[in-house]
Amino acid sequence: MIIDFHTHLCLKGSPATRESVSPILTQAKRHGIEKLVVLGDVVRYGVTPNRDEIRAINDDTLTLMGWFPGVVIGFCHLNPLHDKAFLKEETERCITCNGMRGIKLEIAVNGSDRRVNPVLELAEALNVPLLQHAWDTTIIGNRRHQTDPADVAVMARRFPRVNIVMAHLTACGLRGVQTIRDFPNIYTDTSGSQPFSGIVEYAVGKLGVDRILYGSDIPIRDFPSQLGRVLGANIEPGQKEQILQHNAERLLGLSDNRV
Ligand SMILES: [Zn+2]
Repeated sequence: MIIDFHTHLCLKGSPATRESVSPILTQAKRHGIEKLVVLGDVVRYGVTPNRDEIRAINDDTLTLMGWFPGVVIGFCHLNPLHDKAFLKEETERCITCNGMRGIKLEIAVNGSDRRVNPVLELAEALNVPLLQHAWDTTIIGNRRHQTDPADVAVMARRFPRVNIVMAHLTACGLRGVQTIRDFPNIYTDTSGSQPFSGIVEYAVGKLGVDRILYGSDIPIRDFPSQLGRVLGANIEPGQKEQILQHNAERLLGLSDNRV
């Protein structure tokens, strides 16, 4: 069984429909991907979604969880610029009451900004992983909010008991791997970019295989190219299994039969 730790399923700017999502799940099954972490349509409303927009993105994910139980694992998307009361209310709604298993942050605020701390406090209190969009540059378009590996390291140092997933291993690059190496609470997902040879092997060597999670970023990328990065890597078959399945199971708490 493969678990895809980084998917959006729907990035159309409109609510997901069974018709738009089912073909993707059929493809996933054909590749042996039986569970997908769905992070939501996080760019639907731009960089800083308001409360209603955050609720709408998370409602969409909850709908997908309802349509495809046991397959779709939802993460709660948040904008750290919202007040603590709303952040708590939304995580209670999505995680405590409706079974989402993590928190997703995009580019509303750089991850090292102290305004992100309340979100990390919630992740710690709820004991769920936080997946932070990351890239090897803090500039995206004309904005400087994008989180880079050094920013993820700042988050991890402030909150050593929160498991943080630095998204996009290849985009974070060799420097990114070196930056997070000494932070055992930072994981990385393999999603996005082209499957350059050598990067997975490098990450396994520096981080250990336990901290690497397979992800695709579908529908931005396709399954074959993203799986190829792991399946074609020059590592042991058992290590590939850990990246494709077991590390995600452990981080998501799937062995406790909640999904
Ligand atoms: Zn993504």
